[in-house]
Amino acid sequence: MSESVLSEIHRVAGLALLLLILGLLMDHVAFFLLLGVLAYLAWHLFNLARFQRWFEEGRRFHPPEVWGVWGDVFYNVYRLQQRNRLRRRRIIRMLQRFQEATAIMPDATVVLGVQGEIEWWNEAAGISFGLRAPQDMGQRIANLVRHPAFAEFLTAGDYSGTVQFPSPVNEQVMLAVRIVRYGKEHLLLIARDITPIYRLDQVRRDFVANVSHELRTPLTVISGFLETMSEDDSYYPPQWAQQWGRSVYLMRKEASRMQHLVDELLLLSRLEMDKGMHRREIIPVSDMLTMIGEEAVVLSGTLRGELRHTISVEADPHVRLQGNNTELRSAFSNLIFNAVQYTPPQGRINVRWYADATGAHLEVSDTGVGISAEHIPRLTERFYRVDTARSRESGGTGLGLAIVKHVLNRHDAHLHIISAPGKGSTFVCDFPLILTIRSEAIN
Ligand code: ADP
Repeated sequence: MSESVLSEIHRVAGLALLLLILGLLMDHVAFFLLLGVLAYLAWHLFNLARFQRWFEEGRRFHPPEVWGVWGDVFYNVYRLQQRNRLRRRRIIRMLQRFQEATAIMPDATVVLGVQGEIEWWNEAAGISFGLRAPQDMGQRIANLVRHPAFAEFLTAGDYSGTVQFPSPVNEQVMLAVRIVRYGKEHLLLIARDITPIYRLDQVRRDFVANVSHELRTPLTVISGFLETMSEDDSYYPPQWAQQWGRSVYLMRKEASRMQHLVDELLLLSRLEMDKGMHRREIIPVSDMLTMIGEEAVVLSGTLRGELRHTISVEADPHVRLQGNNTELRSAFSNLIFNAVQYTPPQGRINVRWYADATGAHLEVSDTGVGISAEHIPRLTERFYRVDTARSRESGGTGLGLAIVKHVLNRHDAHLHIISAPGKGSTFVCDFPLILTIRSEAIN
């Protein structure tokens, strides 16, 4: 119990005793006690009214001089108010400093509420998204920034990555947008101008596409002549036959390797440039895999002769896929032909195609050389090879898995690689349920 309350109790007790004695002397105990209680109550009511007036009138004023327990009440409330005022001032100052800092940040920053409504933005956001105060305050960001990629990103709710799209006010400016959740229900949208990087990347892509395209025609001509030369020995004197034959064979082999490289570069450029999936059809994947399996048997025979591989294809004919036929064929053949390339003679290659509750899956496993853990995350990079000499020797370009990754991305699918040196490899492509079609659903 506080000191002021204790002394109040003492005071009340002293007063009651005094009134009791007076009452006894005057022979009116009840009257005196009642008088005392009424007076005490009146004093409290009076102070309560003063307190209320002081509290309502102005918290800045010092409390009035009050006697007894009410003096302590006034003083304690006054102290509490002072402390709160200081704290509030400090928070406001901090908030102002934070807003000043974010306002001059070069990255566009927008604070969004639960429904995506705009609560605050900085100057850069005003320029990048064309936001105007006060009319855009409280508007939903999806109504003002209408790019389909952004709308999809916003509604998907998975904000782990970024989305790129041109600024709604200037098509020449490319933005990379991130969204971060904060507090209980707020979102912080941060947009960065990536125009220089985007342009550089575009220049690189155009360069690769153009060079590949330009190389294609001369290569076709060279290959054509080499083919004719190898079939018609009237092109060179008979005494050179043996030497020429070998040279022409090597030239044809290298020319075809280069043609393959150019074709893969062009395919990659096309996959990169063409962002959307325009041609989606229902693909009988099991037929496609059976055909690739037969081609793999031929390849295996060419590479290993009598010691060819055992290749099995177990594909569920009831599971089909919605996607792009050419792209998927290219991705699946890359995986299956790689298994043939990197598996020693008489090894086993198993291809499985099936569906479960999560979607459709392609599994290509082999008993080949395997890959050590440090290489696995980098396999889908362009020109990344575990063993460059071996890959070149087998006619590899180092682009196959990069193509696989791009094709899978375009089908919202993912690639998993399970492998260890000497233990073989399994490449798994997981396709989403939304693209998986079971025959029962078609018929
Ligand atoms: P490449 O044309 O060289 O085969 P890829 O992009 O298809 O290029 O593959 C990249 C590298 O991954 C290959 O060079 C090889 O080292 C490794 N690789 C791919 N598939 C397999 C596999 N089935 N077994 C072992 N290594 C593989």
